[in-house]
Amino acid sequence: MTRTILTGDRPTGPLHLGHYVGSLQQRVALQREYATYVLIADLQALTDHFDAPEQVRANVLEVMLDYLAVGLDPAVATMVVQSQVPELAELTMYLLNLVSVARLQRNPTVKDEMRQKGFEADVPAGFLVYPVSQAADIAAFKADLVPVGGDQVPMIEQAVELVRRFNRTYPGASGPVLVEPEALLGPVSRLPGTDGGAAKMSKSLGNVINLSDPADEVARKVRGMFTDPRHLRVEDPGTVEGNPVFAYLDAFDPDRAAVDALKARYRAGGLGDSVVKARLTEVLEALLAPIRRRRAEWARDLGGVGRLLDEGTTRGRAMAAATLAEVRRAMRLYGS
Ligand code: ATP
Ligand code: MG
Repeated sequence: MTRTILTGDRPTGPLHLGHYVGSLQQRVALQREYATYVLIADLQALTDHFDAPEQVRANVLEVMLDYLAVGLDPAVATMVVQSQVPELAELTMYLLNLVSVARLQRNPTVKDEMRQKGFEADVPAGFLVYPVSQAADIAAFKADLVPVGGDQVPMIEQAVELVRRFNRTYPGASGPVLVEPEALLGPVSRLPGTDGGAAKMSKSLGNVINLSDPADEVARKVRGMFTDPRHLRVEDPGTVEGNPVFAYLDAFDPDRAAVDALKARYRAGGLGDSVVKARLTEVLEALLAPIRRRRAEWARDLGGVGRLLDEGTTRGRAMAAATLAEVRRAMRLYGS
Protein backbone atom coordinates (compact mmCIF):
# COMPACT_ATOMS: atom_id res chain seq x y z
CA MET A 1 0.00 0.00 0.00
CA THR A 2 1.23 3.52 -0.77
CA ARG A 3 2.50 5.23 2.32
CA THR A 4 1.39 8.75 3.15
CA ILE A 5 3.23 11.98 3.93
CA LEU A 6 1.62 14.91 5.68
CA THR A 7 3.55 18.03 6.47
CA GLY A 8 3.04 21.76 6.28
CA ASP A 9 3.94 25.32 7.09
CA ARG A 10 2.36 28.24 8.85
CA PRO A 11 1.46 31.08 6.44
CA THR A 12 3.02 33.71 8.70
CA GLY A 13 5.47 34.88 6.02
CA PRO A 14 7.40 33.69 2.98
CA LEU A 15 9.36 30.43 3.21
CA HIS A 16 13.10 30.59 3.81
CA LEU A 17 16.31 28.59 3.53
CA GLY A 18 15.51 26.80 6.81
CA HIS A 19 12.31 25.41 5.32
CA TYR A 20 14.23 24.28 2.28
CA VAL A 21 16.79 22.12 4.11
CA GLY A 22 14.49 21.25 7.01
CA SER A 23 11.56 19.92 5.04
CA LEU A 24 10.86 21.15 1.48
CA GLN A 25 13.75 19.23 -0.10
CA GLN A 26 12.54 15.94 1.40
CA ARG A 27 8.97 16.54 0.28
CA VAL A 28 10.03 17.21 -3.28
CA ALA A 29 12.26 14.14 -3.31
CA LEU A 30 9.51 11.85 -1.95
CA GLN A 31 6.39 13.28 -3.60
CA ARG A 32 6.26 10.59 -6.29
CA GLU A 33 6.93 7.72 -3.90
CA TYR A 34 4.42 8.71 -1.19
CA ALA A 35 0.87 10.01 -1.30
CA THR A 36 1.91 13.54 -0.31
CA TYR A 37 -0.32 16.09 1.44
CA VAL A 38 1.03 19.53 2.30
CA LEU A 39 -0.97 21.67 4.66
CA ILE A 40 -0.90 25.45 4.65
CA ALA A 41 -1.60 25.72 8.36
CA ASP A 42 -3.49 28.98 8.66
CA LEU A 43 -5.40 27.90 11.79
CA GLN A 44 -2.11 27.14 13.47
CA ALA A 45 -0.75 30.52 12.29
CA LEU A 46 -3.65 32.23 14.08
CA THR A 47 -2.61 30.72 17.43
CA ASP A 48 0.04 33.44 17.70
CA HIS A 49 -1.21 35.76 14.93
CA PHE A 50 -4.89 35.92 15.94
CA ASP A 51 -4.74 39.72 15.68
CA ALA A 52 -3.15 39.68 12.20
CA PRO A 53 -5.64 37.72 10.07
CA GLU A 54 -4.84 39.78 6.95
CA GLN A 55 -1.17 38.78 7.19
CA VAL A 56 -2.13 35.12 7.51
CA ARG A 57 -4.54 35.28 4.61
CA ALA A 58 -2.11 37.11 2.33
CA ASN A 59 0.58 34.52 2.98
CA VAL A 60 -1.54 31.52 1.98
CA LEU A 61 -0.95 32.12 -1.74
CA GLU A 62 2.63 33.24 -1.11
CA VAL A 63 3.43 29.91 0.56
CA MET A 64 1.68 28.08 -2.29
CA LEU A 65 3.91 29.97 -4.75
CA ASP A 66 6.96 28.96 -2.73
CA TYR A 67 5.84 25.30 -2.93
CA LEU A 68 5.45 25.44 -6.69
CA ALA A 69 8.74 27.32 -7.02
CA VAL A 70 10.76 24.63 -5.19
CA GLY A 71 9.21 21.89 -7.30
CA LEU A 72 6.25 20.48 -5.41
CA ASP A 73 4.19 19.21 -8.31
CA PRO A 74 0.41 19.71 -7.97
CA ALA A 75 -0.08 16.73 -10.28
CA VAL A 76 1.26 14.42 -7.54
CA ALA A 77 1.33 16.42 -4.28
CA THR A 78 -1.89 17.71 -2.75
CA MET A 79 -1.70 21.20 -1.25
CA VAL A 80 -4.46 21.90 1.28
CA VAL A 81 -5.61 25.00 3.22
CA GLN A 82 -6.15 23.95 6.84
CA SER A 83 -9.05 26.29 7.67
CA GLN A 84 -11.03 24.93 4.72
CA VAL A 85 -11.07 21.48 6.33
CA PRO A 86 -13.27 21.81 9.43
CA GLU A 87 -12.81 18.07 10.12
CA LEU A 88 -9.31 18.95 11.37
CA ALA A 89 -10.75 21.26 14.03
CA GLU A 90 -13.27 18.56 14.92
CA LEU A 91 -10.58 15.92 15.45
CA THR A 92 -8.62 18.44 17.54
CA MET A 93 -11.60 18.65 19.92
CA TYR A 94 -11.68 14.86 20.34
CA LEU A 95 -7.92 14.60 20.89
CA LEU A 96 -7.89 17.41 23.45
CA ASN A 97 -9.57 15.04 25.92
CA LEU A 98 -6.66 12.63 25.62
CA VAL A 99 -3.83 14.90 26.80
CA SER A 100 -3.26 16.64 30.12
CA VAL A 101 -2.54 20.34 30.51
CA ALA A 102 0.69 19.37 32.36
CA ARG A 103 1.83 17.33 29.34
CA LEU A 104 1.15 20.27 27.02
CA GLN A 105 3.16 22.55 29.28
CA ARG A 106 6.15 20.19 29.12
CA ASN A 107 6.54 20.40 25.31
CA PRO A 108 10.05 21.93 24.97
CA THR A 109 9.39 23.66 21.62
CA VAL A 110 6.19 25.25 22.91
CA LYS A 111 8.11 26.37 26.03
CA ASP A 112 10.84 28.02 23.88
CA GLU A 113 8.29 29.68 21.64
CA MET A 114 6.31 30.97 24.63
CA ARG A 115 9.49 32.57 25.95
CA GLN A 116 10.29 34.11 22.54
CA LYS A 117 6.80 35.54 22.20
CA GLY A 118 6.54 36.78 25.80
CA PHE A 119 3.57 34.44 26.36
CA GLU A 120 4.73 33.00 29.72
CA ALA A 121 2.41 35.12 31.82
CA ASP A 122 -0.65 34.93 29.62
CA VAL A 123 -0.49 32.21 26.98
CA PRO A 124 -3.52 31.94 24.67
CA ALA A 125 -5.12 28.52 25.20
CA GLY A 126 -5.08 27.98 21.43
CA PHE A 127 -1.30 28.39 21.36
CA LEU A 128 -0.71 25.95 24.22
CA VAL A 129 -2.76 23.28 22.45
CA TYR A 130 -1.43 23.79 18.92
CA PRO A 131 0.53 20.50 19.13
CA VAL A 132 -2.84 18.76 19.50
CA SER A 133 -4.21 20.48 16.43
CA GLN A 134 -1.04 19.45 14.58
CA ALA A 135 -1.52 15.87 15.77
CA ALA A 136 -5.08 16.03 14.41
CA ASP A 137 -3.75 17.20 11.02
CA ILE A 138 -1.32 14.30 10.88
CA ALA A 139 -3.86 11.75 12.13
CA ALA A 140 -6.68 12.90 9.85
CA PHE A 141 -4.48 12.18 6.83
CA LYS A 142 -3.30 8.88 8.37
CA ALA A 143 0.26 9.99 7.68
CA ASP A 144 3.09 7.51 8.11
CA LEU A 145 5.84 10.05 7.60
CA VAL A 146 6.16 13.73 8.52
CA PRO A 147 9.16 15.57 6.97
CA VAL A 148 9.97 18.35 9.48
CA GLY A 149 12.75 20.40 11.01
CA GLY A 150 14.24 19.43 14.37
CA ASP A 151 12.05 21.89 16.31
CA GLN A 152 9.06 19.72 15.38
CA VAL A 153 10.31 16.44 16.87
CA PRO A 154 8.45 17.04 20.18
CA MET A 155 5.26 17.64 18.14
CA ILE A 156 5.56 14.29 16.40
CA GLU A 157 6.24 12.58 19.75
CA GLN A 158 3.05 14.13 21.08
CA ALA A 159 1.16 13.08 17.95
CA VAL A 160 2.31 9.47 18.43
CA GLU A 161 1.15 9.53 22.08
CA LEU A 162 -2.25 10.91 21.04
CA VAL A 163 -2.72 8.35 18.27
CA ARG A 164 -1.86 5.50 20.66
CA ARG A 165 -4.17 6.86 23.32
CA PHE A 166 -6.98 7.29 20.80
CA ASN A 167 -6.58 3.77 19.43
CA ARG A 168 -6.51 2.32 22.97
CA THR A 169 -9.50 4.33 24.14
CA TYR A 170 -11.61 3.85 21.01
CA PRO A 171 -10.61 0.56 19.34
CA GLY A 172 -12.30 0.41 15.95
CA ALA A 173 -14.57 -2.54 15.10
CA SER A 174 -12.06 -3.67 12.47
CA GLY A 175 -8.79 -2.60 14.13
CA PRO A 176 -7.16 0.69 15.10
CA VAL A 177 -8.41 3.74 13.19
CA LEU A 178 -5.44 6.11 13.46
CA VAL A 179 -1.88 5.58 12.22
CA GLU A 180 1.28 6.25 14.27
CA PRO A 181 3.42 8.80 12.40
CA GLU A 182 7.18 9.05 12.22
CA ALA A 183 9.28 12.23 11.82
CA LEU A 184 11.64 12.49 8.87
CA LEU A 185 14.44 14.96 9.55
CA GLY A 186 16.26 16.75 6.75
CA PRO A 187 20.03 16.66 6.22
CA VAL A 188 20.16 19.93 8.19
CA SER A 189 17.43 19.79 10.79
CA ARG A 190 18.05 23.21 12.26
CA LEU A 191 19.46 26.00 10.12
CA PRO A 192 20.63 28.93 12.27
CA GLY A 193 19.53 32.51 11.57
CA THR A 194 21.64 35.14 9.78
CA ASP A 195 22.06 36.80 13.20
CA GLY A 196 24.00 33.84 14.63
CA GLY A 197 21.70 33.85 17.69
CA ALA A 198 20.65 30.79 19.65
CA ALA A 199 17.28 30.61 17.87
CA LYS A 200 16.86 28.90 14.49
CA MET A 201 16.09 30.81 11.30
CA SER A 202 12.40 31.70 11.77
CA LYS A 203 9.91 33.79 9.86
CA SER A 204 8.92 35.60 13.02
CA LEU A 205 12.49 36.46 14.09
CA GLY A 206 13.64 38.53 11.09
CA ASN A 207 16.83 36.45 10.72
CA VAL A 208 15.89 34.85 7.42
CA ILE A 209 16.93 34.60 3.80
CA ASN A 210 13.70 33.97 1.92
CA LEU A 211 13.48 31.66 -1.07
CA SER A 212 11.83 34.56 -2.91
CA ASP A 213 14.39 37.25 -1.99
CA PRO A 214 15.82 39.03 -5.06
CA ALA A 215 19.54 38.50 -5.76
CA ASP A 216 20.64 41.90 -4.42
CA GLU A 217 18.68 41.30 -1.20
CA VAL A 218 20.37 37.91 -0.71
CA ALA A 219 23.78 39.54 -1.26
CA ARG A 220 22.93 42.32 1.21
CA LYS A 221 21.73 39.85 3.85
CA VAL A 222 24.85 37.70 3.44
CA ARG A 223 27.09 40.79 3.76
CA GLY A 224 25.30 41.64 7.02
CA MET A 225 25.59 38.13 8.45
CA PHE A 226 27.07 37.46 11.86
CA THR A 227 30.43 35.68 11.67
CA ASP A 228 33.11 35.26 14.34
CA PRO A 229 33.20 38.49 16.39
CA ARG A 230 36.88 37.84 17.29
CA HIS A 231 37.89 37.62 13.63
CA LEU A 232 38.63 41.33 13.29
CA ARG A 233 41.53 41.43 10.83
CA VAL A 234 42.06 39.19 7.83
CA GLU A 235 45.20 37.69 9.39
CA ASP A 236 43.42 36.72 12.66
CA PRO A 237 42.55 33.02 13.05
CA GLY A 238 38.77 32.56 12.83
CA THR A 239 36.28 30.11 14.32
CA VAL A 240 34.14 27.99 12.07
CA GLU A 241 31.96 26.40 14.77
CA GLY A 242 28.84 28.46 15.50
CA ASN A 243 29.65 30.69 12.51
CA PRO A 244 26.44 30.78 10.44
CA VAL A 245 28.27 31.61 7.19
CA PHE A 246 30.01 28.24 7.41
CA ALA A 247 26.81 26.55 8.57
CA TYR A 248 25.17 27.75 5.34
CA LEU A 249 28.14 26.64 3.24
CA ASP A 250 27.88 23.21 4.89
CA ALA A 251 24.16 23.15 4.08
CA PHE A 252 24.21 24.46 0.51
CA ASP A 253 27.64 24.23 -1.12
CA PRO A 254 27.79 21.01 -3.13
CA ASP A 255 31.62 21.27 -3.35
CA ARG A 256 32.58 19.72 0.02
CA ALA A 257 36.32 19.87 -0.72
CA ALA A 258 36.18 23.61 -1.43
CA VAL A 259 34.31 24.20 1.86
CA ASP A 260 36.89 22.17 3.80
CA ALA A 261 39.69 24.17 2.20
CA LEU A 262 37.98 27.47 3.10
CA LYS A 263 37.50 26.28 6.69
CA ALA A 264 41.17 25.35 7.02
CA ARG A 265 42.31 28.76 5.70
CA TYR A 266 39.81 30.59 7.93
CA ARG A 267 40.99 28.73 11.04
CA ALA A 268 44.63 29.39 10.23
CA GLY A 269 44.11 33.12 9.66
CA GLY A 270 44.56 35.02 6.41
CA LEU A 271 41.07 34.59 5.02
CA GLY A 272 38.70 37.54 5.23
CA ASP A 273 34.97 37.26 5.97
CA SER A 274 34.23 39.05 2.72
CA VAL A 275 35.79 36.23 0.67
CA VAL A 276 33.77 33.54 2.47
CA LYS A 277 30.63 35.63 2.12
CA ALA A 278 31.22 36.14 -1.60
CA ARG A 279 31.45 32.37 -2.00
CA LEU A 280 28.23 31.90 -0.02
CA THR A 281 26.40 34.51 -2.13
CA GLU A 282 27.44 32.62 -5.24
CA VAL A 283 26.31 29.25 -3.82
CA LEU A 284 22.94 30.63 -2.71
CA GLU A 285 22.41 32.32 -6.06
CA ALA A 286 22.93 28.97 -7.83
CA LEU A 287 20.21 27.46 -5.61
CA LEU A 288 17.79 30.39 -5.60
CA ALA A 289 17.92 31.69 -9.19
CA PRO A 290 15.90 28.76 -10.66
CA ILE A 291 13.48 28.87 -7.70
CA ARG A 292 12.96 32.60 -8.26
CA ARG A 293 12.43 32.04 -11.99
CA ARG A 294 9.81 29.33 -11.46
CA ARG A 295 8.08 31.49 -8.85
CA ALA A 296 7.83 34.41 -11.28
CA GLU A 297 6.35 32.10 -13.94
CA TRP A 298 3.65 30.78 -11.61
CA ALA A 299 2.96 34.29 -10.26
CA ARG A 300 1.84 35.36 -13.73
CA ASP A 301 -1.28 33.20 -13.25
CA LEU A 302 -2.37 33.69 -9.65
CA GLY A 303 -5.92 32.67 -10.56
CA GLY A 304 -4.63 29.32 -11.77
CA VAL A 305 -2.49 28.91 -8.63
CA GLY A 306 -5.55 29.58 -6.48
CA ARG A 307 -7.52 26.98 -8.42
CA LEU A 308 -4.79 24.37 -7.87
CA LEU A 309 -4.98 25.11 -4.17
CA ASP A 310 -8.76 24.82 -4.17
CA GLU A 311 -8.61 21.48 -5.99
CA GLY A 312 -6.02 20.18 -3.53
CA THR A 313 -8.12 21.37 -0.62
CA THR A 314 -11.19 19.55 -1.97
CA ARG A 315 -9.19 16.29 -2.27
CA GLY A 316 -7.66 16.81 1.17
CA ARG A 317 -11.02 17.48 2.73
CA ALA A 318 -12.42 14.23 1.29
CA MET A 319 -9.53 12.34 2.85
CA ALA A 320 -9.99 13.98 6.27
CA ALA A 321 -13.77 13.49 6.12
CA ALA A 322 -13.34 9.76 5.47
CA THR A 323 -11.05 9.44 8.52
CA LEU A 324 -13.45 11.46 10.67
CA ALA A 325 -16.34 9.17 9.74
CA GLU A 326 -14.25 6.25 11.07
CA VAL A 327 -13.24 8.28 14.13
CA ARG A 328 -16.86 9.04 15.00
CA ARG A 329 -17.83 5.40 14.59
CA ALA A 330 -14.97 4.23 16.81
CA MET A 331 -16.06 6.83 19.40
CA ARG A 332 -19.66 5.63 19.14
CA LEU A 333 -20.83 9.21 18.64
CA TYR A 334 -24.53 9.77 18.19
CA GLY A 335 -25.50 9.51 14.53
CA SER A 336 -22.34 7.66 13.46
P1 ATP B 1 7.28 30.90 12.53
O1 ATP B 1 8.39 31.78 13.03
O2 ATP B 1 6.06 31.62 12.11
O3 ATP B 1 6.98 29.73 13.47
P2 ATP B 1 8.99 29.16 11.02
O4 ATP B 1 10.09 29.84 10.29
O5 ATP B 1 9.30 28.49 12.31
O6 ATP B 1 7.84 30.23 11.19
P3 ATP B 1 7.11 27.08 10.35
O7 ATP B 1 6.04 27.32 9.35
O8 ATP B 1 6.78 27.14 11.79
O9 ATP B 1 8.31 28.12 10.04
O10 ATP B 1 7.84 25.68 10.06
C1 ATP B 1 7.52 24.88 8.93
C2 ATP B 1 8.49 23.73 8.79
O11 ATP B 1 9.80 24.19 8.48
C3 ATP B 1 8.65 22.89 10.07
O12 ATP B 1 8.81 21.54 9.69
C4 ATP B 1 9.93 23.40 10.67
O13 ATP B 1 10.57 22.43 11.48
C5 ATP B 1 10.75 23.69 9.42
N1 ATP B 1 11.73 24.75 9.72
C6 ATP B 1 11.44 26.04 10.01
N2 ATP B 1 12.57 26.73 10.26
C7 ATP B 1 13.60 25.85 10.12
C8 ATP B 1 15.03 25.96 10.25
N3 ATP B 1 15.61 27.12 10.57
N4 ATP B 1 15.79 24.84 10.04
C9 ATP B 1 15.20 23.65 9.70
N5 ATP B 1 13.87 23.50 9.56
C10 ATP B 1 13.07 24.58 9.77
MG1 MG C 1 7.69 27.70 13.55
